[in-house]
Amino acid sequence: MRYMWLILVVALLAACGDGFFVSNTKQYYFVVKPATRENTRIFKGLFADFNRRFNSPYLNLVRGGELRASETSTIALTQGLRHKEGKLGWGRWIRTAKLNSRRGFLNKPHQVRKNIYTMELEFDRDYVTRRYRSDNDKDQRQLRTLFLHELGHGFQMGHHPDSRSVMYHEIDDTAKDYASFYRRAYRFLLR
Ligand SMILES: [Zn+2]
Repeated sequence: MRYMWLILVVALLAACGDGFFVSNTKQYYFVVKPATRENTRIFKGLFADFNRRFNSPYLNLVRGGELRASETSTIALTQGLRHKEGKLGWGRWIRTAKLNSRRGFLNKPHQVRKNIYTMELEFDRDYVTRRYRSDNDKDQRQLRTLFLHELGHGFQMGHHPDSRSVMYHEIDDTAKDYASFYRRAYRFLLR
């Protein structure tokens, strides 16, 4: 017991010495372009549905210019994307690392690396708005699948060969295993 204090000091030094600390920010702030009332409503609904599953506001909407560009994710709704590029959407993830030197315990310098995760998503405007305006279950399902698929790319997921996977390369009518998608998303968000 006599040496307990010594162990404590060593532990403190180890924690505050020339360390390299990493902090991850995986809360997403999206700007929708163009920011029409309908486009905003579409993604507000999809975000709310996603956040509800995790009981946590991972996906948020902001107005352009509200945050720094390096902290902002984007969703673009593009007229004619399907004809121009032959796809309904795409998504890519971005990670920006910021290094800060700080003085820690006993004035020792240490580096703090802050990782900011953002993403860029783009969708075919007609495909999205038509399905949003439709009351048909199938249309609603397709919209949800497309959104989650591109969001999955934004969470660093690649394609999956199983047609029941949300990350299957095509948005088709196969019943999707949403539960396993949410599990994968959660693993990424907590990492
Ligand atoms: Zn894809």
